[in-house]
Parts: sequence; structure tokens; C-alpha cells
Amino acid sequence: MTAAPPGRLRVPFLDLQRLHAELQDDLDAAALRVLHSDRVLMGPELERFEQAWAAAVGAGYAVGVGSGLDALSLGLRALGVGDGDEVLVPSHTFVATWLAVVHVGAVPVPVDVLSAAGAWDADALEDAVTPRTRAVVPVHLYGHPVDLDAVLRVAGRHDLVVLDDAAQAHGARIGGRPLGGLTHATAWSFYPGKNLGAFGDGGAVTTSDPVTAQRLRSLRNYGSTEKYRHDEVGWNSRLDELQAALLTVKLTRLSEHNARRDAAARRYDEGLAGLDLVLPERVPGTDPVWHLYVVRSPHRDRLREHLAAYGVETLVHYPVPPHRQGAFAGTGLADAHLPMADRLAREVLSLPMGPTLRREEQGAVIDAVRSFRP
Ligand SMILES: *Cc1c(COP(=O)(O)O)cnc(C)c1O
Repeated sequence: MTAAPPGRLRVPFLDLQRLHAELQDDLDAAALRVLHSDRVLMGPELERFEQAWAAAVGAGYAVGVGSGLDALSLGLRALGVGDGDEVLVPSHTFVATWLAVVHVGAVPVPVDVLSAAGAWDADALEDAVTPRTRAVVPVHLYGHPVDLDAVLRVAGRHDLVVLDDAAQAHGARIGGRPLGGLTHATAWSFYPGKNLGAFGDGGAVTTSDPVTAQRLRSLRNYGSTEKYRHDEVGWNSRLDELQAALLTVKLTRLSEHNARRDAAARRYDEGLAGLDLVLPERVPGTDPVWHLYVVRSPHRDRLREHLAAYGVETLVHYPVPPHRQGAFAGTGLADAHLPMADRLAREVLSLPMGPTLRREEQGAVIDAVRSFRP
């Protein structure tokens, strides 16, 4: 990004180094414990983290895997989704949600969203169901919980499984209940920039069904639960001991970090009110965790340039909707009519957000946005 003009604060989008500095001694100790141990895979650190994560999200089981994409793919496979099945996915999401469906041989069927945060109209969801539909993957985008009760009602009527993508929603709640144990299974990513981030790739699936949990343990480990016996065609997708130990440390601070994000979101809500901008909506009865603070503007690109000139780093999540990606060129998906997804790709802008965003930095962002003249 461009440097801040003289006398102005440079505001980074997210400062992970600052975050980790607060936990440095504990992180160092955890890393050294693994480096000096004789287990680097499938050992006590993984077990400890899986138990802590399952407890944190109110699920019976957590199964660590290699990434969020793998959590989605293995989750779908563990729930019996495979060749030729149709899977309902939101039109506006990170592309991994769709990729996971393709990786298990199934077909993503996009349902256009109502809002940037990935909300669906229950009737539109139900209209998309066909005799081949097998699963639904709602995405709690930007940290805003999707109305799972509505999704589960549609799923119940048509005998579908629900795997929710909570890669951006660690700690989010609906009606006071944390995401992670509210559907057949929930997929998590611990990519470094997520609300609970590792120091490399990582992911997990949580579920309260022991059979699904057992199937996931096999799928992540070459389809094997007993050495050199392979009962199905599995993957190699494991959460290593180093990541598990570091995540256990970071988990102790997740609620505090989410509370700091929430305070920052409230300051944005206040400081940006009354402008020609669509601000994120707070849905009553939900506790979002503000993975991103995303505004919408018809002048998005010029607003972004204006902010860059003020030294404010912003990002766009996401500039190209999944159905317009080269990965789906030549499939029927490329011709899908998804007007909201196309519009959001033109209008969304993510402002700096994170647990270490300082008050004066946030003030600089608000001033910069307020000084924009379209
Ligand atoms: C990050 C993310 C993923 C993929 O997770 P990785 O760990 O990067 O593979 C999937 N879905 C959503 C919504 C994400 O934000």
C-alpha cells in the first residue's frame, strides 16, 4: 500500500504481530514444548486442542484437519455427500465453499444472498431444492451468523444434511448458543488472519454425532483408524502438534479479542452513521464476531483509492464472485443469474478491523471515510 501522507497515521488492515506480542511468552513456551517433544503429529497437543475447541463451541467432538477447505471437503464426505449430489451454497462467499463441493464430486448450486453477510431468503432456498439435492452449506460470512433455524427447517423437510461454514465466525452466537454444535457439522479454518488463527494452515470440523466424528478421524488419516488398514479412500489432512499447541494458547484469548472487535465495530457504526454508505446490519438475537467490517458503496473503487491516499489499508472480500471465477468457466455455473452476488462484488469494502486496532487509528479511518466526496 502507499505510505501515509506526512503527518498522517498509517493504518494497517490487520496487525498480527501486535496481537501475538501480547501473548509472546505463552506462544514461545508452547512452540518450544513441541520442538523438544518426540511427537509432531497426532499427539497430546492435538487432543488437548480438540477437547478445548469442542467445549468452546458446545459440540461433542472437534476433529483437527489441515485447512478450512479440507474441513469443508471432509465434512461433506463424512456426511455422505458425493458423486453427482447437489449442494446449496451462497452466491457470495469465499470461493473455498464452492471448491469443497467440487472436491467431493458434488455440484454447487448457488442461491443468491439477500445481504453482504450471506443471509438467505428461506423460500429462495427451498425453491432451489431438487430430487438430487443432498446438502446445504450456509456461510457465516464476515462473522455474522446465518439464521440456522430457517435453514434447518428447509433441510428437515427435504432430508438434507447441513454443514455450516464458520471459517469467519469463531465465537459467534445465535440466541446465546455458539455456532459449532447447531447443525450436522460445522467447518472451521485457522488460517492466520481468521479470528482464531494459527501460524500456518489449519482447520477443524465440529459435530455432536459420534459416527460423523469417527468418520472424520478416518478420512483425515488416509481412511484409516488402525495402522496399515485403510477402510476407505481418505486424505492426508492433519492439524500438526505445533499448530494445535499455539491455537490452544490463542483460544484462551478468543472471547477477549472478539469483544475488542465488537467495540471497534460499535465505534465504526457511530462514526460512519449518516453517510452515503451501507453499514453492516446487526441482526437481533445474534452475536457477530466481526471478522471483517464491510461497508457498501456504489463508489467503492474511488473510496478505496481515497483511503489509500490517507494511509488507510482496505481490502475487498471479494472482488470476483465464485460463479465468475475461471475455476467454473465452461460449467453451467458461469451462466448463473446471481444479481446480488455481482452487485456485492462491485460495492463491498472491508475497513481495518482486529483486536489490536487502536482508537486513534480507527479515528483516522473514520475521518478519512468522512472526507470522501464521491
Ligand atoms: C478462509 C475461508 C475458507 C477456507 O479456509 P482455509 O483454511 O484458507 O482453507 C473457507 N470458507 C470461508 C468463508 C473462509 O473465509
